[in-house]
Amino acid sequence: MTDFVRVRFAPSPTGALHVGGARTAIYNWAFARRTGGMFVLRIDDTDPGRSTTENTEQILRSLEWLGLDWDEGPDIGGPFGPYFQTERAVNYAAALERMKANGTAYPCFCSTADLEAKRAATRAGAGTGGYDRTCRRLDPTVVAARLTAGEPHVWRLAVPADRGDIVVADAVRGETVFPAGAMDDYVLVRQDGTPTYNFATVVDDADMKITHVIRGDDHLSNTPRQILVYEALGRPVPRFAHLSMIWGADGKKLSKRHGATSVEAFRDQGYLPEALLNYLALLGWSLDGETTIIPPEVLKANFSLERISRNPAIFDFDKLAWMNSVYIRELGPDRLAIRMFPWIEKAGLAPAGDLQARPDWYRLLASLVAERLTRLTEVVPMVRYLFSDEVVIDPAAAEKTLAVRGAGDVLRAAAQVLAPLDRWTAEAIETSLRSLPETLRIKPKQVFQTIRVAVSGSMVSLPLFESIALLGRERTLGRLKAAQSLAG
Ligand code: GLU
Repeated sequence: MTDFVRVRFAPSPTGALHVGGARTAIYNWAFARRTGGMFVLRIDDTDPGRSTTENTEQILRSLEWLGLDWDEGPDIGGPFGPYFQTERAVNYAAALERMKANGTAYPCFCSTADLEAKRAATRAGAGTGGYDRTCRRLDPTVVAARLTAGEPHVWRLAVPADRGDIVVADAVRGETVFPAGAMDDYVLVRQDGTPTYNFATVVDDADMKITHVIRGDDHLSNTPRQILVYEALGRPVPRFAHLSMIWGADGKKLSKRHGATSVEAFRDQGYLPEALLNYLALLGWSLDGETTIIPPEVLKANFSLERISRNPAIFDFDKLAWMNSVYIRELGPDRLAIRMFPWIEKAGLAPAGDLQARPDWYRLLASLVAERLTRLTEVVPMVRYLFSDEVVIDPAAAEKTLAVRGAGDVLRAAAQVLAPLDRWTAEAIETSLRSLPETLRIKPKQVFQTIRVAVSGSMVSLPLFESIALLGRERTLGRLKAAQSLAG
């Protein structure tokens, strides 16, 4: 038995990684890191119809993107592998042998039709619920003969007759008592030899020496059944921590109806992994009840099961967006430039390698957008005018600023002072343009809005002087000239 923490995240690859699963992964990871333990990734792919390699890869990619790392897993192996349930048939067979030998598992030959009839009787009020244990009462010689004859059968757990109530002591929810009488002799191994979830999970968790099972509370009702298998196998029962569900604002379980739910969808919407990680960490856990910005290092150093809340957490998209904007600002211009460049490249605004070719230009751009961004997707519309040769002028903006008296003078005068500038910097540009209102006797606001619309196409843009610096002399003068045809 290991004396340090070993936890696992065991997703079923039946779809993309959702935020609920991601939060479970984050808690396991943070707990392992805080305690100096091991974080194991296991793929529960026992549902062959719905499990796919693409889903497994997508889940791994999403976890990596969030910044999680694991110590053992399908891609890196480890001492307790394989880490795909479909490759662990030997382990399940060995565990079943053990249970057969100590009488905690028995074969059941009841046909589907038999079971259906029993269930119907239960529904009619004649039965006690669950399997009626017909096959548990069979004479051992009969059992042996039927097995030898190759009669189809499943293997069931023999719930001990004298087992009292099962108490699940949960780190989050406290004690939950499940009456022993309510436990039925459930199926461990199906007719085709495949293990059921409750059996496979316990065999794996036991073989992988998992000390703490941290997972969604949709599995709480499975826990007493799983405890019985640990007992049958004579293996120590791990500690459990069941996490409350995540709800949408309407108090219903978070689903697609509420918006994005997969980690990749958040990535594609321009969220930073650090922000999503931070947000999900706080969805049911708190550092001290008030701190909201908790970078990964702080989380890894402080995460504890004691501070997990047992109340359902409500997913607040606005709070996540706010948190994202905080993380975007905290990146600083260099790192923000690196994060936003792929979006610019993907939109076809700049060729690959442009960031390396003119890092200063991108650094200035990043410093301008940082304050204005909530999500990285907003970068492209915000900066488009700085990349194109031509600018598309918003007709309403043109009407207000260009089609008015004096606009032509402003554009000409601006071109005149800018054309001969020695140094094409935001400061030099500002100094020269600041002289215009007085020379032209036009209000500063009108002067600068006219120039802004001419160079950016819109009344709202990044700061004017910096924009002109980024745009370059040639393009700026070209736009000032082109706008004259619209000017009054
Ligand atoms: N594969 C199961 C799931 O995704 C794992 C449950 C567990 O952690 O035991 O729900």
